[in-house]
Amino acid sequence: MTTIPDTARTTTIHEAARETPVFGEYDVVVLGGGPAGMTAAAAAARAGASCLLIERYGFLGGMGTAAGVTNFCGLFANVHGEQRRVVHGLADELLDRMRALDGLNEPHLVLGRIMGQAYDMSAFKVAADAMLLAHGADVLFHALVVDVAKDDGGRIAAVVVETKSGRTAVRGRVFIDCTGDGDVAHRAGVPMEKGDDHGHLLYPTLMFRVGNVDAARAGEAWRTIPALMDEAEAAGTYRFPRRGAIVRPQRHAYEWRVNVTQMKNADGSAVDGTDARSLSNGEAEGRRQIVDYLRFLREKVPGFEDAYALDIAPQLGIRETRRLVGEAMLTGDDVIGCADFEDSIGVNGWPLEQHVAGDIKWGFAPLDSRGYNQLPYRMLLPRRATNGGVDNLLVAGRCASMTHDGQSAARVSGSCFVMGEAAGVAAGIALDIGLVGGIDHHTGLYGVAPSRLASLLRDHGAYLGAAGESFSG
Ligand SMILES: Cc1cc2nc3c(=O)[nH]c(=O)nc-3n(C[C@H](O)[C@H](O)[C@H](O)COP(=O)(O)OP(=O)(O)OC[C@H]3O[C@@H](n4cnc5c(N)ncnc54)[C@H](O)[C@@H]3O)c2cc1C
Repeated sequence: MTTIPDTARTTTIHEAARETPVFGEYDVVVLGGGPAGMTAAAAAARAGASCLLIERYGFLGGMGTAAGVTNFCGLFANVHGEQRRVVHGLADELLDRMRALDGLNEPHLVLGRIMGQAYDMSAFKVAADAMLLAHGADVLFHALVVDVAKDDGGRIAAVVVETKSGRTAVRGRVFIDCTGDGDVAHRAGVPMEKGDDHGHLLYPTLMFRVGNVDAARAGEAWRTIPALMDEAEAAGTYRFPRRGAIVRPQRHAYEWRVNVTQMKNADGSAVDGTDARSLSNGEAEGRRQIVDYLRFLREKVPGFEDAYALDIAPQLGIRETRRLVGEAMLTGDDVIGCADFEDSIGVNGWPLEQHVAGDIKWGFAPLDSRGYNQLPYRMLLPRRATNGGVDNLLVAGRCASMTHDGQSAARVSGSCFVMGEAAGVAAGIALDIGLVGGIDHHTGLYGVAPSRLASLLRDHGAYLGAAGESFSG
């Protein structure tokens, strides 16, 4: 316990030094259990590593469950006008498990260009638990990573975690930061970025689902809702936070998800998921916007007259905060230009999807292109010249090394599955050949050979996007 004098009027307090007990020691410690973290942990454990995934909530899925996303993007690409499934590997296993739980819709076309696939949130949670269990990864729920401890060489030796049983440390040889916000990379002091050239972040959204929709009357309401919103605004009866509403049916036709709110700070900038006060204000504002939008749906949209808010997501949906500055940064031009990388770990077929003030701006690869870019292993590695000795950290998922534009595309679930699985496989290789934690500790994860990584990923069914490679993975 820290005590401060009654009279002190300080802006900081001095905390007493303490001894923190070690919870355990693992080959691989994965931080965060979203799409990237769950595949990273499953892949590392599958490779024979002892692996612990640490997650702040009591369930897996990340934004996919905690923020109510309930729809996979990035599993498909529009390849010369044909929809092709381009993400396989552990994503196949996960989707099979969800299908077996009757928790997966058939894919649907988005904007007439690219496939998405809606799912049931509970099925995602349950399937992810089962996948980790099947591969032998341990999970510690309700554990928030708050700090890192380094060894003399600057490598991460342990993470510090707050749990209900107190503060504890987890030692590891490889750490994979899948927190979405790069919490661990940030604490470890490797360079990170936030926002575009002006610091503007993608705007967050508080998702909600409505129940009791009359599906027959609602029909293809996702096509008519934008015009109904325009009419309502023109009549002066409603003012919406954002255009480009996404209102779509889920696994059961009476249940629809709604992606329409947009959270701003008082100065109009995007709510920042790494700013405690901004984030906190955003939650209440999101719920206020939901009440308004539900009123609009009930009053103006046929089939929604008796709809109600089935749930409001447990947390604000955060699209972008800190991003790693890595050995390679995926750019918007890479996405639009369908870039190739010699150290490909898989592909992204999702377009640029920029949530700007009041709207969504889309940017597609040309229709006659192959419709996807490769993702390089180097986007998981902190820039070597400035890593301060941290050679045992990979960063996967929406906080991996991408520019603001590149991240607006490759942050979606499909690419996060790809990055997570590759990170787990790379960790397994590094441990196997003694690149980390052993005597030959000078290359760390930078010494993983892309050819070996590619070959193991393909052995596990991944599609890496090479010319002539079969789409089935
Ligand atoms: C509103 C919204 C709508 C979206 N719509 C779609 C869509 O339709 N389709 C699609 O594919 N993608 C969509 N996305 C994007 C996608 O959901 C995310 O980008 C994706 O989930 C990112 O995966 P991730 O694993 O990198 O991170 P996250 O999903 O953010 O997961 C990070 C995990 O780490 C945990 N965590 C964070 N910090 C800590 C810590 N310090 N200690 C311990 N645990 C921690 C979190 O609780 C979470 O479980 C949407 C995103 C938003 C916000």
